[in-house]
Amino acid sequence: MSRGRISIVGAGPGDPELITVKALRRLEEADVVLYDRLVSDELLNYCRTGTLKIYCGKAPGRHALTQSEIERLIVDYATVGHHVVRLKGGDPFVFGRGGEEALAAARAGIPFEVIPGVTSAAGASASAGIPLTHRGTAASFAVVTGSRCGGENAPVRWDLLAQSVDTLAVYMGVAKLGEICGELIRHGRAASTPAALIENATTSAERVVTGTLGDIVQRAAAMRIGNPAMLLVGDTVGIREMLRPAEAVERRIV
Ligand code: SAH
Repeated sequence: MSRGRISIVGAGPGDPELITVKALRRLEEADVVLYDRLVSDELLNYCRTGTLKIYCGKAPGRHALTQSEIERLIVDYATVGHHVVRLKGGDPFVFGRGGEEALAAARAGIPFEVIPGVTSAAGASASAGIPLTHRGTAASFAVVTGSRCGGENAPVRWDLLAQSVDTLAVYMGVAKLGEICGELIRHGRAASTPAALIENATTSAERVVTGTLGDIVQRAAAMRIGNPAMLLVGDTVGIREMLRPAEAVERRIV
C-alpha cells in the first residue's frame, strides 16, 4: 500500500511567523513541496535536506506551472508514495484554488488534508490597524475578488455588496481599482466612504495608502501601489487614525 498523501497548506499572508504550528510540522515532514510566489522563502528553510521544492509561479497572468500541471504533479508524487505539501499564500480555500486541488486528490483517491492559513484580509486588517468588524461601526465583512470586475461574466454582485456589507476586503483588485470603486459608487455606496490599500501586508515592505472610494485610485497611482495589495472599504478604515499613535514607530505609515 502506498503511503502517499497530500497536505494543502496555508502559509499565511506574508510574514513567515504567521504560519500555523501544524503547517510548519507538515513542511518539516514533506518529501515534496510545491509552493506559490506569495509564500515567504524563509518558510522553505523548515524543509528537511533532500525535500524536493517546486516553484509554481503564479504572478498575475504568468504561471510557471498551469493549474492542471500542479494538480497532476501533486497527485503523481503522492501516488508513488510521497508526502506532498502544497504550500499556498494566505488560506488555501480563499481565492487559492485549494478546492480544485482537494478535488483532484479526492478524484485520484489520495488521502489529503487542508490546513488553514491566515488569509491576507486578516493579515492586512491587523497590520494596518483596520478592524474588519467593530462594535457600532461594522457588523459584517465580505471577501471579494476584484480581478474580473466589469467583465462579461463578472462573478461579483457589486450592486448587492455596495449596499449590504459593512466592510469589503477586495483581493486581486489593483489592476481594476477604478472599476471596483466605480461600481460601488454607482450602486449607492458614498464616494466619501473610507478606503485603504495595503501593499505587501505583514511584511517589512508593507505600505498603506488611505483615502475614500472617490479618491483612492489617484492616491494609489501616486504611490505606485502594486501587487499584492488588499483593498479595504468601509468606515472601520477610519479607526486606523485612532490606532496610529500606539503603533510601532518604525512602521512605515503613509
Ligand atoms: N489565498 C490567498 C489569496 C490569494 S489571491 C489568501 O488567503 O490571502 C492573491 C491576492 O491576495 C492578491 O492579489 C492580494 O489582493 C491578496 N494578498 C495576498 N498576499 C497579500 C499581502 N501580503 N498583502 C496584501 N494583499 C495580499
